[in-house]
Amino acid sequence: MPFVILDEAENLPALKLALGIVEYLCIMENELRRLPSVDKLISEERIRELRKIYAHDMIVDVVRQQLEESRAAIMRGISCPSSDELVDSICSRLQTLAQSSLRPVINASGVILHTNLGRAPLSKEATAAMGLVAAGYCNLEFDLGSGLRGSRNVHIEQLLCQLTGAEAALVVNNNASAVLLALTALAKRKEVIVSRGQAVEIGGGFRIPDVMRQSGAKLIEVGTTNCTYIDDYEQAISPRTAALLRVHTSNFRVEGFVHSVTLEEITALGSKRSLSVFDDLGSGCFLDTAAYGLAPEPMVQQSIALGVDLVFFSGDKLVGGPQAGVIVGKSQLIDKLKRHPLARALRIDKVRLAGLAATLIHYLKGEALGKIPVWRMISLPMDVVERRARLWAQALGDLAQVIEGETMVGGGSLPGSTLPTRLVAVGNKGGRRNLALSLARGLRRSEPSVIGRINDDVLLLDPRTVLPEEDELVLSALSNAVAGLKQ
Ligand SMILES: *Cc1c(COP(=O)(O)O)cnc(C)c1O
Repeated sequence: MPFVILDEAENLPALKLALGIVEYLCIMENELRRLPSVDKLISEERIRELRKIYAHDMIVDVVRQQLEESRAAIMRGISCPSSDELVDSICSRLQTLAQSSLRPVINASGVILHTNLGRAPLSKEATAAMGLVAAGYCNLEFDLGSGLRGSRNVHIEQLLCQLTGAEAALVVNNNASAVLLALTALAKRKEVIVSRGQAVEIGGGFRIPDVMRQSGAKLIEVGTTNCTYIDDYEQAISPRTAALLRVHTSNFRVEGFVHSVTLEEITALGSKRSLSVFDDLGSGCFLDTAAYGLAPEPMVQQSIALGVDLVFFSGDKLVGGPQAGVIVGKSQLIDKLKRHPLARALRIDKVRLAGLAATLIHYLKGEALGKIPVWRMISLPMDVVERRARLWAQALGDLAQVIEGETMVGGGSLPGSTLPTRLVAVGNKGGRRNLALSLARGLRRSEPSVIGRINDDVLLLDPRTVLPEEDELVLSALSNAVAGLKQ
């Protein structure tokens, strides 16, 4: 160690500081020395027990990580933890590591298609079909008749054509990839005309202009934010135009002085000028939402009937199936998409393919309303919602009230259109200022978590978005959360 001789009188403050540092270093070194070795920790009784559950290498790794973290903490001036504390931390680290952080929750938020909560819950038939192909082998790309190689798309194409009236169909990873694939395969280095009011962001980073740029297609925006006319499209057509694209403005509404072009007008222009018409529907609906008091959501079969060349939609929005991107339309174009290298990169797996097929079969059998959870929620009669809300409110004693409210469909469909519902509301009563937030926190911590929504300091719970078979779980979570408040 280098020495510095200081003149005591002149440099007293510096000397004091140096001595302080030396003293601090000594304490730190002492604390560091108190840290047990890896071997010592591994031979601790409780850690030896863990070998029955976890691989030895994993335990050693975690012990090392813990020691490293404690060493860093000591360097920051925190004293050395006891052996017991170290063992506690190691056990909980291993526990957290070996358990998936992805787990089921109960959605009482009042948003049926909540993207952050995994969008559509699946029917029993769909989950059963997924479980079967997941656990074993299946004829994913194997033709059982000929014994030759087959295509995964055959399992879904017929169903989709039957349902929508389209000539051909292709399923990929999600709707964003459906749009990307079609634009890349059919419009790269060409122009695609879109209304300025439809060059939108859907949420979660999906922006039409960005997807276009990725695909190499040039976006030609026409019209203004609020008004677009068919003449705007016609004037923008050039020899480089590949397609006219309609995007369903699925998550917002423009009101007031507004004019937009109908799909009829766009398809008429497309056929007059021999241009393809693409329709990004987003949600993709097969049933008439207006029958349930909602705004009419465009239906896939309507777009096909109007002669749209390609229609894109999600599998996990109003269809009510697993995450998927569906493309239906003219076989001449879909064949090109099937052969494009990007189709391989964006393909769907066997498990979701099975779930989507089972979901589509519900529509073909005419049992979608009774079987597909999303549609069961939409069509749930008000007296049932009311009865469940009262039951839930009882579990909260005098903290809750049942009030009138609205359920949102969400997931980029039916902007501004809601379903009437009954909500269990917990406001901040009397002296209890954080009651709503504390209760919401308690419900998130229960097993499984129950997720509500907070509006103006009031916790709202909507029975409509909760599966009826989950009611028992909600009731016990509510009683436990109330009991937790009193502590
Ligand atoms: C939701 C949505 C998408 C994206 O669909 P994902 O399946 O989430 O990839 C694209 N376009 C529109 C209009 C949408 O509403």
